[in-house]
Amino acid sequence: MEVENIKPWLFRVQPYQGESLSHFLGRFRQANDLTPTGLGKAAGLGGAIARWEKFRFNPPPSRQQLEALATVVGVEADRLTQMLPPAEVGMKLEPIRLCAACYTESPCHKIEWQLKLKQGCDRHQLSLLSECPNCGARFKLPALWVDGWCQRCFLTFAEMAEFQKAITNE
Ligand SMILES: [Zn+2]
Ligand SMILES: [Zn+2]
Repeated sequence: MEVENIKPWLFRVQPYQGESLSHFLGRFRQANDLTPTGLGKAAGLGGAIARWEKFRFNPPPSRQQLEALATVVGVEADRLTQMLPPAEVGMKLEPIRLCAACYTESPCHKIEWQLKLKQGCDRHQLSLLSECPNCGARFKLPALWVDGWCQRCFLTFAEMAEFQKAITNE
């Protein structure tokens, strides 16, 4: 299916390296003022968008669904697949986790942070945060990360980096 067929009235959003589908869908919806239901309708995907934003990938998105989404968001289905957990790898729906050091460099939620076996950020050798280190609030679903700060105490994600602990690899 040709990605060039994107609906001309929609703004495109460029994916970040490693970005999770939930975060990408949230950004696309904000740029286009769409609800999960509205985007689901535009792509002919019904309630799937709302499920995917919650990382509910059971059953996993089919190739046909990803291609339908691709025509609406203007990002190829193969690229969308990279926003999903790898097929054989278990993932944690919650808590939503964050490497604030990564976020400072590239403001997005990464899918690798939700993988079950992930203990920390390989890139920075830092532990992942699973709540705001200042007030203890859980992070919202990445689709709702509009401002890049804690919704309760407003500590920015960038400022949270100093609370991450170094991890040691044996
Ligand atoms: Zn990192
Ligand atoms: Zn907070």
